[in-house]
Amino acid sequence: MTTSSKINPEVLCAASDTVRIAFKKLDKSAEKILFLIDGEKRFQRTVTDGDLRRLLLSGVSLDEPLSTLPDVNSITIQSDYTKREVYQLMKAHSIDRIPVLDISGILIDFIRREDIEEPILLVTPHMGDTERQFVDDAFRTNWIAPIGPNVDAFERELADTVSIDNAAAVSSGTAAIHIALHILDVGPGDIVFCSTLTFIASANPIVYLGAEPVFIDSDEASWNMSVVALECAFRAADSKGKLPKAVIVVNLYGQSADLDPILSLCRRYNVPLVEDAAESLGASYKGVNSGTIGDIGIYSFNGNKIITTSGGGMLVSNNKKYVERARHLSTRAKENTPYYHHTEIGYNYRMSNVLAGIGRGQLKVLGERVKRKREIFDFYRNAFSCYTSIEWMPEPSWSTSTRWLSVALIKDVAKRDVSHIILELSKNLIEARHVWKPLHCQPIFEGCLYFTDGNQSISEKIFENGICLPSSSNMTEKMQEAVCDNIRDLIC
Ligand SMILES: *Cc1c(COP(=O)(O)O)cnc(C)c1O
Repeated sequence: MTTSSKINPEVLCAASDTVRIAFKKLDKSAEKILFLIDGEKRFQRTVTDGDLRRLLLSGVSLDEPLSTLPDVNSITIQSDYTKREVYQLMKAHSIDRIPVLDISGILIDFIRREDIEEPILLVTPHMGDTERQFVDDAFRTNWIAPIGPNVDAFERELADTVSIDNAAAVSSGTAAIHIALHILDVGPGDIVFCSTLTFIASANPIVYLGAEPVFIDSDEASWNMSVVALECAFRAADSKGKLPKAVIVVNLYGQSADLDPILSLCRRYNVPLVEDAAESLGASYKGVNSGTIGDIGIYSFNGNKIITTSGGGMLVSNNKKYVERARHLSTRAKENTPYYHHTEIGYNYRMSNVLAGIGRGQLKVLGERVKRKREIFDFYRNAFSCYTSIEWMPEPSWSTSTRWLSVALIKDVAKRDVSHIILELSKNLIEARHVWKPLHCQPIFEGCLYFTDGNQSISEKIFENGICLPSSSNMTEKMQEAVCDNIRDLIC
């Protein structure tokens, strides 16, 4: 960022100016600050009302010169500053004017706090109007516990929203996956198939239980688990005589995987399917709600998800036994006896009644959030409709994605390296991110089996070229325009 504006002489002063003159200048100027410069326009320090008052208190008179001011090191910035640097300096030092100097220390401009916009973040929480009421109810009735009426109601209301019979509220999406795998009897020495293009939380619980993940590549059509790759993995496992205990299919960035053929493969091999719908609450597959198609589905209400409880998760299933097991396991597997009686090891994973209150409020705005996310995506796609260098995450005919994040591939990456674009955007206070780094490429999973459809890895290509753009449902059109303008500058 460079600057060309000339400095208004009203905000300048010299060491020979008297304290009285400085007061008068401050009084006239709207900036509430003066910049003291020497005869060569070299910057010396800032002068505020407070500096002058302290000077008077120390015994200096109104007619003495500013050269009586003590030496200070005022915060300054060089003319090649980025918005990000200015923003961070202003925040760190609680100041709202920063002088801009050239390399020889000459004052060439100053920046006002008002002129630096807030950062545009990837995705932020977006509360509705009723969350507080439910939280207040929890306080009023002193239900500040991992059980209570909000928890029960949140489970019922979520189950109704996605048209499923049973739901158990837990402390995170990760906890829900952990419990789902526990219920499906995953244990040491077992293997579990898992989509590779996902957040590590999808696979961590496999390892918590002592089992080993086997990763499955994506397809081009949905970016989700490839049916062909899954079939290759099943064949290989079958021929070794060791089938997986479960398959975890992830619905990426708000979009369902092609679940019919995936489910029928699972049925053929008699292996249960866990649907990681952490990112896809509100989406549908052939008209059926995302998360309700597998044997067990899980949702996340982490702060970045489409609706949030600040942290939380839900396990859903049409199999009542699974969900009852989930409630039992998430409350330390305490038996229903008058005393503490345990026949197995459980977890402390139940959702708090306070947070469930936030969830009840958020559930009321889920439909609006999905609508807004899809509008945000459409805005980006339209803004770049004439650009062949940007290709958007596809949405197959059977999918209605929530577009939780707006994700694109930058083609011709040799010229337009994604890391470079992300870095340049961040200098202008815009947060974009890489798509998930495939789990089979993670050092921690080195040596784990990985299946593609027999050709080149598709998830790796998506990772290499993919970028997630700011997608908060509460972002303004002006913010979206700023994102588009910045990207245009970088890819053209
Ligand atoms: C967020 C997320 C999770 C984990 O949910 P938490 O509530 O953060 O534990 C799991 N899987 C995917 C795909 C996610 O995006």
